[in-house]
Amino acid sequence: MGAISVDYDVIVVGAGVAGSEAALEASKAGSKVLILEEHQQVGVPSHCSGVVSLSGMKLIGLEPNQSFSQKLIIGARFHPPKGEPIEIRKPDPVALILNRMRLDQFLAKRAVSQGVELRTSTRASKFVRHENGSAGVVTQDGGKVTAKVIVDASGAGSRLPGQAGLDTPDWSELLPGLQYELVETPSQDDFVDLFFGSKRAPGFFAWSIPTGDHSSRVGLASGKGNVKKLLDNLVAENWPKAVVEATKSGSVLVSGPIGKCWSHNFLVTGDAAGHVKQTTGGGIIIGGYCGQLAGKAASQFSTAPETGVKFLREYEMKWRETFSSDLRRMGLARKLFSGLSDETLNRLFDVLRDHVGDIQDMGDIDFQGKIISRMLRERRLVKLLPRVAADHLKAVFA
Ligand SMILES: Cc1cc2nc3c(=O)[nH]c(=O)nc-3n(C[C@H](O)[C@H](O)[C@H](O)COP(=O)(O)OP(=O)(O)OC[C@H]3O[C@@H](n4cnc5c(N)ncnc54)[C@H](O)[C@@H]3O)c2cc1C
Repeated sequence: MGAISVDYDVIVVGAGVAGSEAALEASKAGSKVLILEEHQQVGVPSHCSGVVSLSGMKLIGLEPNQSFSQKLIIGARFHPPKGEPIEIRKPDPVALILNRMRLDQFLAKRAVSQGVELRTSTRASKFVRHENGSAGVVTQDGGKVTAKVIVDASGAGSRLPGQAGLDTPDWSELLPGLQYELVETPSQDDFVDLFFGSKRAPGFFAWSIPTGDHSSRVGLASGKGNVKKLLDNLVAENWPKAVVEATKSGSVLVSGPIGKCWSHNFLVTGDAAGHVKQTTGGGIIIGGYCGQLAGKAASQFSTAPETGVKFLREYEMKWRETFSSDLRRMGLARKLFSGLSDETLNRLFDVLRDHVGDIQDMGDIDFQGKIISRMLRERRLVKLLPRVAADHLKAVFA
């Protein structure tokens, strides 16, 4: 095969965390990179709550930055359907609340300053492979752009993996979510509050995240109820005097990753690949990390497309090495948790209440596998398994 004539070495679809990180890494490695972003402005609209662990930020090489940081968090309060909350607290800050729109803009700007070309208001509608060994993207207005490799970082709902011969995440596992930006709330200190139960967020959970001393981001996701009604009830019950300043909707992905994240001339990363924690739907850190790996692999592939498949394979191996076993255990925890009745949830929280010390010591916001395994060995929890099974059966026939 002769030299391939293409417009770019790497095209990245989507300027979210995964896309901008992929583009930056590919450009740093010497590739000519284009990002296509469907919206006019990067980061807008924003759907995300913006909770990230500080250790996760470190993992992706990102310092909390004045332009996107909102608040440091030292712990979380878990509110069972009934009874007192369980408080998990660390001596030092463990998490950062960030303004997601600003984070995306910061990352895209950083990629552009590294030489990446960013084309906004351009939607990639189709992935194509050409006979000369190159690939390309057809845009919504019928335009065509070619490259040696395409990185799909276009988020939940992407169709490009299917067009490249890969599976897509199970999009039925996208839970409708809704959030309010509340002001005039009482101080939440430096804690995130998480609310469980069928009256709050059946099958998932609701959250309140402090964004300032008297402002909070309150939301929930659920595949089983009317999210607007549920959220209005939650707000009326807990923050009756608060004022809703803004409303954001978006779907939380809890499917877990697809079986294979590459095919010839194609890589998929971030939400588009199911790179999210199934327990919470959180994907900023894992998406950012996998995006970086995808960008490096894409750049290496582009230098020798005829023999470069090994770099695409390595991408798969590397992201799995870091996240796969934790994601497997989070997937199991999610499956066990999602069908539980309020009664079983209360019992589960009673067991957790006696293990606050373990959770404080071993719990990790991103790598939850260790604490999940530890708790699944707890005898009182094992005794709950018949109830869990019965709840699941009931949910299936409901
Ligand atoms: C309500 C809610 C709360 C959340 N809270 C948290 C949280 O607190 N912490 C956390 O870690 N995660 C959270 N998440 C998940 C997190 O937002 C995602 O995991 C993360 O955004 C994934 O990043 P990404 O870069 O893969 O995709 P995205 O951030 O979705 O970026 C994809 C980009 O691609 C663009 N795009 C899409 N299709 C195309 C196309 N065809 N052509 C061109 N451009 C396209 C989009 O406009 C977008 O800019 C939350 C999600 C929701 C819905």
